[in-house]
Amino acid sequence: LPVMISDEGLTPPHDHGFTLSSCVLKPTSRGSVRLRSSRPDAKPRISCNFLTTPEDKQTIIAGVRLASDIASQPSLTAVTRATHNVPRSNSDADIWAHVQQYAGTIYHPTSTCSIGTVVDPQLRVLGIERLRVVDASIMPSVVRGNTNAAVIAIAEKAADLIAGKDMLYGNEKEE
Ligand SMILES: Cc1cc2nc3c(=O)[nH]c(=O)nc-3n(C[C@H](O)[C@H](O)[C@H](O)COP(=O)(O)OP(=O)(O)OC[C@H]3O[C@@H](n4cnc5c(N)ncnc54)[C@H](O)[C@@H]3O)c2cc1C
Repeated sequence: LPVMISDEGLTPPHDHGFTLSSCVLKPTSRGSVRLRSSRPDAKPRISCNFLTTPEDKQTIIAGVRLASDIASQPSLTAVTRATHNVPRSNSDADIWAHVQQYAGTIYHPTSTCSIGTVVDPQLRVLGIERLRVVDASIMPSVVRGNTNAAVIAIAEKAADLIAGKDMLYGNEKEE
């Protein structure tokens, strides 16, 4: 990005700059959303579990190292006065320490009611009549890009399913 981004953009940039960041697009870590109590107004217990598998840890370390390599190329160092908010060294330990201190989420939680475990391919909740889930939670796994367009596609498909226009499954009389 052609701007200095700190604190997920909440802190104004204090200089000219560019930002390179790395993202684990296909995480293997899995979080959970569970009931806290039997009270319907109790807040859920959400555990994100980000970067908890060895694969995800190695992926983010490799990604940060690649970003550092790119930033150290002559074409960029020629226009760089100093670095800001980078790992102490190129070692796995220092990159991991940096990730643990500064990593953000990019706000794409999905898949807590995924197709196949909580809903069927027509988004009907398994074992409950006349109830569908239509949102990011039904994705079997998080998409590699941003999630909003995928949610809109899910919603448009769900509207067709509810209206009985399920061309893919040929089940036009459903509900
Ligand atoms: C800060 C931020 C930035 C993002 N930036 C991007 C981006 O740039 N591009 C992108 O593609 N995606 C982005 N996303 C992700 C995207 O917004 C979400 O993936 C998407 O909105 C998820 O859609 P959803 O319908 O599953 O949930 P939501 O959009 O969260 O919709 C849930 C709705 O349910 C309502 N609701 C909650 N509880 C109740 C209740 N008890 N009764 C009735 N209604 C209720 C809420 O008010 C809300 O309107 C961003 C997300 C965040 C948080």
